[in-house]
Amino acid sequence: MAEETIFSKIIRREIATELLYQDELVTAFRDIHPRAPTHILIVPNVLIPTVNDVEPQHEAALGRMFTVARKLAADAGISEKGYRLIMNCNSHGGQEVYHIHMHLVGGQPLGPMLAR
Ligand code: AMP
Repeated sequence: MAEETIFSKIIRREIATELLYQDELVTAFRDIHPRAPTHILIVPNVLIPTVNDVEPQHEAALGRMFTVARKLAADAGISEKGYRLIMNCNSHGGQEVYHIHMHLVGGQPLGPMLAR
């Protein structure tokens, strides 16, 4: 059984966080340490620790993450200029919170995908 993270408490509304979106599959809220003018996290409501733990039964939630990303990018007014969706996995990927999440970042030019 995977250990819960702070994200489970946010999903269950046990700690005060402004939710930007929530439905039966996913929840979205602002990153506490934004790296860009828009920095939103979109998470499945079910605890999946890493992308390595993704199973076929998660496909509906994972697909919903993209449709919600599209909506929130439009709400933020960054669709036309563009944005980046990021999912980090384990230590080499720089994952800090072991409840998978999609970063939606934008609002300024983001530069190359990886530091050289
Ligand atoms: P990652 O490195 O992909 O695991 O990213 C984890 C992200 O979660 C980081 O960008 C953190 O700033 C963010 N984060 C951690 N705790 C919270 C929180 N309580 N509310 C919102 N964002 C958080």
